[in-house]
Amino acid sequence: MADQLITTAQSPRGQRADALLEGLNGPQRQAVEHGNGPLLILAGAGSGKTRVLTHRLAFLIFTGQARPGEILAITFTNKAAAEMRSRVEQLLGRDTRGMWLSTFHSACARILRAHAASLGYTAQFTIYDQADARRVAKRAMDELGADPKRYSPAAVHNRISQAKNLLLSSGAYRELGGGEFEAVVAEVFALYERNLQRSNAMDFDDLLLLAVTLMERFPEVRERYASSFRHILVDEYQDTNHAQYRLLGLLCGPLGEDDRGHRNLAVVGDDAQSVYGFRGADIRNILDFQEDFPDATVVKLEQNYRSTQNILRAANAIIANNRGAMPKQLWSELGEGSLLRVRECDDEHAEARFVVGEIERLCEAGRKRSEIAVFYRTNAMSRVLEDALVRNDLPYQVIGGAKFYERAEIKDAIAYLSLLVNPHDVVSFTRIANSPRRGIGQTSLARIVTHAATTDIPVFAAAAESSAVPGLTRAAAKALESFMDVMTELRERVRSGASVATVLEAVLNRTGYIEALQEEAREAVNTVEAEGRIENLEQLLEVAREFDDTAGAGEGTLDAFLQRVALTASSDEGSAEGAEDEGEGDGQGLITLMTLHNAKGTEFPVVFIVGCEDGVIPHSRAIDEGATEEERRLFYVGVTRAMRDLYLSYAQRRAVFGAGVWGRRSRFLEEIPTELVETDEDQRPVGFGGFGGSSILRPTPARAPRGAGRASGAARFGIGEDVVHATFGEGVVTGIENDGVVIVRFSGDGSERTLLAEYAPITRAST
Ligand code: ATP
Ligand code: MG
Repeated sequence: MADQLITTAQSPRGQRADALLEGLNGPQRQAVEHGNGPLLILAGAGSGKTRVLTHRLAFLIFTGQARPGEILAITFTNKAAAEMRSRVEQLLGRDTRGMWLSTFHSACARILRAHAASLGYTAQFTIYDQADARRVAKRAMDELGADPKRYSPAAVHNRISQAKNLLLSSGAYRELGGGEFEAVVAEVFALYERNLQRSNAMDFDDLLLLAVTLMERFPEVRERYASSFRHILVDEYQDTNHAQYRLLGLLCGPLGEDDRGHRNLAVVGDDAQSVYGFRGADIRNILDFQEDFPDATVVKLEQNYRSTQNILRAANAIIANNRGAMPKQLWSELGEGSLLRVRECDDEHAEARFVVGEIERLCEAGRKRSEIAVFYRTNAMSRVLEDALVRNDLPYQVIGGAKFYERAEIKDAIAYLSLLVNPHDVVSFTRIANSPRRGIGQTSLARIVTHAATTDIPVFAAAAESSAVPGLTRAAAKALESFMDVMTELRERVRSGASVATVLEAVLNRTGYIEALQEEAREAVNTVEAEGRIENLEQLLEVAREFDDTAGAGEGTLDAFLQRVALTASSDEGSAEGAEDEGEGDGQGLITLMTLHNAKGTEFPVVFIVGCEDGVIPHSRAIDEGATEEERRLFYVGVTRAMRDLYLSYAQRRAVFGAGVWGRRSRFLEEIPTELVETDEDQRPVGFGGFGGSSILRPTPARAPRGAGRASGAARFGIGEDVVHATFGEGVVTGIENDGVVIVRFSGDGSERTLLAEYAPITRAST
């Protein structure tokens, strides 16, 4: 085996070091054994990058190059972090307490908690999720009188988020100038920032931005972390954004002429798998690593240990169509394997039936359900698949779908708790003050919030002294008073150090929340739903109990719990916690459903990618914006998850937003050499170009081509007209295309959707 280890291999210690290198190929070993200084592992999918990082962590600790507390290791999701931690512990044969192994966001939240006061926050700051943050943006727009139909809150909020990821403050953003939209964004941005701070709350981007600000503004803080983390390791480096890049720079250098930092930074990634450009990830971070660190050790891994040759050849052929990728040729020793299966279906229902039928066949042939995954481009596409799986009694889990923590009752419970620890938290206050109904209306709430802002007191305090709030009706003031009495009492419990579970239970009982649900369950109408909600709350209680049981000394506080929840809830993870080994109890586990984005880093013996249509993958928005290369990388990610069997399916017709939309085979399918694809006998002739270019409708172009509608349906509407859609609510017509297509921007979520006027449930707004 390892000749350089011969000297140590006799001792038990040496044996273990040997074990850490066992089963690695030459370049992988080199990366694991690399000592100090920058290290770049730039390599294709399935070549063992994550495995190398895991072994390196264990190796650093084992050989005494770093103590656990001196390592900061970053993964892309909390789930990946948990997996890596247990793997390292397995390799080391001991626990790794003290090692920082988490996502960027979790690491930053932890740092910020320790230094919140330096930035004008308390350690109990609340972390707002996407929906809450959007609400803050919407309120800022309302306050400024910005027209939500002209500028959707979602679009404005996205722009703010982008700016933050580039480390721009509202002031700096304003200075960039731009058009009318940018001017509105700049104004909203400033107010948004102020309102967040006033709520003692941070959004997700703030976690990164403020961690960077903290280190830039307080060099002693930076030095403390820079010297305590002697080694930094980052997985999926191709998806880091500018803020994350800057943070790494602050922690390990290069810092400037006279301070080079320790530069013990090991990053691994694959430029061909960079799929978060839309969220500000900057592929240049990995491509320019050698410019940042000219002396970096660069390790290339070319052997793929995951997939068969056929799958790899297909993946290589697809990605070769992207310009500017670092050339890599992956090879595998796993043999040719079976051919890829491409399947055309009538519509998404037929497609789901095909997938389920194939899964049943595979399971009969001995595959476990846990070995099978189905990927799709957007979350909404899971529903049809889920229906089909349920009908056929096939247990499954959806990763990152409708999340547990996004459910109304869970968000309510969390909001109660947030308000108890963070009395400034306006979003939480307005969420729960009248839930369950207590007769405190929107107007009253607005008065309380305004009063708090103008008198500069926490919203909790303003509400607690309802008599001082101008303009409240007597009934409202009274309702508020008895509610706030309960809240004040609950807060005392928190302060006296009650466990999280105790507090949560008291919240649910004392505020009348559970009672209201129980009542609802008794009224025969909503029984099932209300009972489901109660069950979910019970599950949250269980989460709290687990937290109480496992939190270390001094960590078991309610604010720590809330921040943990906020970070778990947001990451791209499953609702089915610990569900891996569940299922029917037959040891087969669960089929996994997830988006292509969430699939990054995973692997499964059998993979289905559904919806391989132009407009779906590549997404229509990307086609419109000429950004198909990122979509191709996403498709490449999907293809390279498959170990043995890969199914690619597409539908001729797919219902999108209430309208039937004709699809065309994805252009990416055409990039797969035909000899790698099995021709199915009952498959219809491929390449149905018969519908002609112009009649192929696209589901959601962002930039709507404008023009006069020719078809009868669309002709009913005019550009600029207000319409109402049965599902999406109010919107305005922003474009009319040929063939009865109207494009509507909806104010609810800011989305722009392409609809078939004839079929979509839209009508003219009555006003
Ligand atoms: P991705 O780019 O998809 O994140 P990766 O480069 O991180 O992939 P890993 O997930 O680390 O690849 O490894 C892919 C698979 O190959 C895993 O199952 C891993 O255990 C296995 N593997 C990696 N290196 C070796 C090796 N030297 N011998 C045997 N199996 C290996
Ligand atoms: Mg990996």
